[in-house]
Amino acid sequence: MNETITTADIIVVGAGMVGSATALGFAQQGFSVILIEAFQPDTQFDAEHVDNRVSALTRASEKLLDDLGVWSDMRQMRVTAYSDMHVWDAEGAGSIHFDAAELAEPSLGHIVENHVTQLALWQAMMASDNVEVICPDTVVTVSRAEQDGDPISEVQLKSGLVLHASLVVAADGKKSVLRDLLGIDTQGWLYDQHALVATVTTATGHLYTAWQRFMPDGPLAFLPLSHNQDKDCSIVWSTTPEKAKQLLEMDAVEFCQALTVASEVRLGEITAVESRGVFPLELKHATTYIKEGFVLVGDAAHAIHPLAGQGVNLGFQDVEALIRLVKAARQQGRDIGGLRVLRQFERERKGSNMTMLAAMDGFKRLFSNRIKPVSMIRNAGLSLVDNAGPVKQFFVRYAMGLN
Ligand SMILES: Cc1cc2nc3c(=O)[nH]c(=O)nc-3n(C[C@H](O)[C@H](O)[C@H](O)COP(=O)(O)OP(=O)(O)OC[C@H]3O[C@@H](n4cnc5c(N)ncnc54)[C@H](O)[C@@H]3O)c2cc1C
Repeated sequence: MNETITTADIIVVGAGMVGSATALGFAQQGFSVILIEAFQPDTQFDAEHVDNRVSALTRASEKLLDDLGVWSDMRQMRVTAYSDMHVWDAEGAGSIHFDAAELAEPSLGHIVENHVTQLALWQAMMASDNVEVICPDTVVTVSRAEQDGDPISEVQLKSGLVLHASLVVAADGKKSVLRDLLGIDTQGWLYDQHALVATVTTATGHLYTAWQRFMPDGPLAFLPLSHNQDKDCSIVWSTTPEKAKQLLEMDAVEFCQALTVASEVRLGEITAVESRGVFPLELKHATTYIKEGFVLVGDAAHAIHPLAGQGVNLGFQDVEALIRLVKAARQQGRDIGGLRVLRQFERERKGSNMTMLAAMDGFKRLFSNRIKPVSMIRNAGLSLVDNAGPVKQFFVRYAMGLN
């Protein structure tokens, strides 16, 4: 039987924030791109309603999105700059405060609904002549084949389509099917915590500050939203799976009371809550990011505890590195799916991602520890860093992606 084969320079699987940015970035560099997504996205922006899935985007991510030409569209929809971050320990007096002004930066970053980022990227892709979107469809097999005597990556879709490309990018999230089809293992573990997310209204307002209280069960974060007269926040409350379930099932009044207590009333009483959801948390790291003709990016390569809001930021750093290295390989006439360029990518990104994964895992364990001497050292450490100008600046610049 003769199959119809469609060929492109690059195939991207998964149109989440990372896959969409990858597809758009390659298209803007003149590569022909096919993007495959399993689910039809919501292509409407709702000005009245804030989505409960948000991300704290670093300045480095902002730069990438600006370079891709979508940041101004995102600003027109809804993004919230935050100037301060206040972190404190529930089991002592240790605290730390970060201020954009101390760094002579306009903000520490932005809180952005994932939907806003995805929608802006999606609209830009739809306007590009270099991207063909196949949606809804999924990948069922992958292999290396030959085309005109050259090795090529082959992808077969559930619909029966067969696609060829020099490079296939797996951006299909932490449960990546492509990673499994490529036989790439992962290391990691499920955390004993689930994250409850919701949009809440506070009595006193957020002061454009990201607030985070570390409790032994897990951290509670309030992320400011420029909505409802600066009184709304998106929360990420990481806690035991049992408590997350209870919080999800409470009526709104009970939930607001529990949250007011858990936040130590730092933002006043919590007066309203909407769109609660719960997500299990895990650490997952692919043992390798590459196979000849294939590469993993974003959560497909690394999933991380959300306590410092770094997951998609790491994914965007993967995107920046991959596009830069593949573009250079093409300019030098090298095979863009060859192991030489892919190894360069892995060398650049794997160590850096691993450092962040290990640091967040360490923080999670340190702040969950109830042993008195540990909590005393932890509290002293927080206050010490707070007063140690250069060390503090190093940490915050690193977290902002400005290192
Ligand atoms: C509670 C919580 C809070 C978080 N907060 C932050 C934060 O503040 N800052 C931050 O940087 N990160 C944060 N993260 C992490 C961030 O959400 C993830 O890192 C990010 O969403 C990963 O994006 P991705 O595009 O790699 O994967 P995904 O968002 O998982 O996208 C994968 C895409 O692939 C599609 N897909 C899946 N399988 C297939 C297939 N077989 N074929 C085709 N398509 C497929 C899916 O439909 C989806 O569209 C948080 C995570 C959680 C759980």
